[in-house]
Amino acid sequence: MAKDSSAEIAVKLDSLRQSFRQKAVRDMNQLEEFLSRIADKEASKEERRAVVKTTYHLLHRLAGSAGTFGLGALGSEARQLEQSLKPLIEPGPGVAAGTGRTLALEEVLTPEFFSRARQLRTFLEQADNKSRESVDVAPAEPVLAPSEAAITVFLCDLPNPVSVFLEHSLTNHGFTVDRVDVSELLNLSGEVCAGSLAVITSEEAVASIASALQLLKRQYGINSPPLICTGNHNDFDSRYTLAEMGADALFSEPLDVPLLAERIERLIDERSKAVPGKVLILDDDEDLAKHYQLVLQGAGFDVHVISDPEKVIMALAECRPDIMLLDVRMGRYSGVTVAKLIRFEPEWLGLPIIYLSSEKDWTVQLDALAQGGDEFMTKPVSDDYLVRAVQVRCYRARQLNQLVIRDSLTGLLKHSVIKQEIEREHARCLRMGHVSTVAMIDLDHFKRVNDRYGHGTGDHVIKALANLLRHRLRSTDLIGRYGGEEFVVVLPNCTANTAIDVLGKIGDGFSEIQFATNEGDISVTLSGGVAELSAFKTASDALNAADEALYWRKKAGRDGITAWHPHP
Ligand code: GH3
Ligand code: MG
Ligand code: MG
Repeated sequence: MAKDSSAEIAVKLDSLRQSFRQKAVRDMNQLEEFLSRIADKEASKEERRAVVKTTYHLLHRLAGSAGTFGLGALGSEARQLEQSLKPLIEPGPGVAAGTGRTLALEEVLTPEFFSRARQLRTFLEQADNKSRESVDVAPAEPVLAPSEAAITVFLCDLPNPVSVFLEHSLTNHGFTVDRVDVSELLNLSGEVCAGSLAVITSEEAVASIASALQLLKRQYGINSPPLICTGNHNDFDSRYTLAEMGADALFSEPLDVPLLAERIERLIDERSKAVPGKVLILDDDEDLAKHYQLVLQGAGFDVHVISDPEKVIMALAECRPDIMLLDVRMGRYSGVTVAKLIRFEPEWLGLPIIYLSSEKDWTVQLDALAQGGDEFMTKPVSDDYLVRAVQVRCYRARQLNQLVIRDSLTGLLKHSVIKQEIEREHARCLRMGHVSTVAMIDLDHFKRVNDRYGHGTGDHVIKALANLLRHRLRSTDLIGRYGGEEFVVVLPNCTANTAIDVLGKIGDGFSEIQFATNEGDISVTLSGGVAELSAFKTASDALNAADEALYWRKKAGRDGITAWHPHP
């Protein structure tokens, strides 16, 4: 779906507000009718109780939604009226709390209640007279280019030996490394600043570099590139000062380069998330759901909305959200039960579910949480709060998910996850009729590297290849660590020939990387086998074919990529 611009989103939000107001006018007319039926002494007690219940639901709905559409005063008055009717509705009809005594209608339906309920309409009229309340849609975060290009690391004002060391070792990790001073930093183009960029500097220079980055941030309206500081002062005060000046990380000497490389990647990833997360909303109030959707889209979220609880499992499979917002009262369905039902599926056991509800009673909230949800967000939710709350939860959900699905040494997908991805892509190929390729990549004579230079050097080499694959492949390609020094890559919409070309170039680049060892610099080569997923009945047949092609390559002298062929 094409993303709306913020102007288009504002127009749509406005039209939702208009339509809510029209509905609210109809609600006021209904309320008036309900009130006269409740007051009708001719009617039976049962009839009057039934109307009280309907009135209660109307007030409940208004209390939960009016604030979202800029009618906060109407919403809170509706909430108070709703609360005063509550003893007639829950727990049993009309039982006075703690007494077990059934309340008479008249004890709740006082003249004051009627007069306030009849006045509710005035809150709507007042709001209509006032100029429209401003709506606080969070400003859209600048959308950055996805980090498909290699990450650039600027070394600023570092002592020469540190610069030489980092230039060499970070290049090995697949980063583009450049030395710049403050004035060169200030002359950078907006495009470079907004790209995948990190800056490393010394304790002495951190203040001037941090203020230069602040200037760039203001000039181009971007998030600041991460600033990493190197130094030897590890005490609390020094660290505090660095954090205060704007450093994002501190590395003490001697520098642990693999750790540094990992931190750079993580900081850049946090900064450049073009889409902050995927959200599924289930709310039977379509306008309210549409409003949440627009507000979250304005803040860059990918939002999927459904209003029919029966569609929830299908929607989850399609949207694969990071978090879900779930309404509690949906006609004859309860959100709490829907949450329970979602947990039937092992795949969604870990999905954070946030109830969107007007429920203020914390015992009811706790009860609902015990049954499958994770948190309550109380309606009405302000736009600003909604965005911040969803941002935090999506971020946390994504981080947790990363830990579960990613290999800790390389950050690539784990064996079981990449296998699932191969299956998924294979199914997609069969369904859509396109060509995708799977590749198996293995380091050459890696045992010798470990035996001769140590396991640490071996780990370093594995990480470097992981980084290189990540930087050089498309963001839609999937990369997994299949085993120790074996990697699997899935290239959607890519023929075997193109895969050979792309992976061959990556292999060439990799063989040029120099790894420092105690016996001087060394280089390592890789071999690969590729097979077109679409040419095989099952995903595992295709993977076996790629493995066979890899074997042929090893036999033919390693250092290159070979395609599987029915007649080798
Ligand atoms: P070939 O070119 O035929 O692939 O030879 P090879 O030596 O690379 O293959 P082999 O499968 O005999 O050896 C793989 C080595 O990879 C053995 C194992 O110790 C090492 N290895 C596996 N996982 C890791 C790891 O996480 N870190 C390090 N440093 N080494 C690992
Ligand atoms: Mg090997
Ligand atoms: Mg091997």
